[in-house]
Amino acid sequence: MDIEKTLKNLHARHIEAEYYETAAQALEALCAEVQGKRVVFGGSVTLRDMGAFDALRERNDVYWHWVERSDNQRQIECDAQVYMASANALAETGEIVNIDGTGNRVAGAMYGCESVYYVVGVNKLAPDLNAAIERARQVAAPRNAQRLKAQTPCAVDGKCHDCRSSGRICNILSVIMGKPNGVGRCKVLLVGETLGY
Ligand code: SF4
Repeated sequence: MDIEKTLKNLHARHIEAEYYETAAQALEALCAEVQGKRVVFGGSVTLRDMGAFDALRERNDVYWHWVERSDNQRQIECDAQVYMASANALAETGEIVNIDGTGNRVAGAMYGCESVYYVVGVNKLAPDLNAAIERARQVAAPRNAQRLKAQTPCAVDGKCHDCRSSGRICNILSVIMGKPNGVGRCKVLLVGETLGY
């Protein structure tokens, strides 16, 4: 696990990146930086467990479909100024990997926002892109399927079977290879703790 290498490679891809020892420190930095914005959260156990929603809503207009559903969800998500996300894996070579079933989580991070933030625990680090994709598919996706009680084989045994289930949660694999031109800023807050899966 090479923190410095990861930060350097993210910077080279025009993605801002900083390291924090703890999730509390990362959250404090986020709250100082994000104020007076329309903030949308993508599904993320990391963001849930660190209390990011309650912290950010003190000074922002915040929406998260995990907290309250709106019939207008798609429009609200499209209107976000700031998008909050995590990653299923982060390659030390600088690529950010996510798997999504619906698409809102990866779409929100790719286009239209002023700023996109990824909060990523060091447990998500992988040496290179192939290892990051492997981690996303073999570790993160089965764990998420179990959390969601999905009707998929991985929810039973914790292993990916590259299924064709109707309840499959792995319909989209996204790899952020550099700051998308369609977002103003992209920043990774790498945290020296185990966060999410
Ligand atoms: S492809 Fe199917 S079996 Fe594999 S992790 Fe995704 S939902 Fe589970």
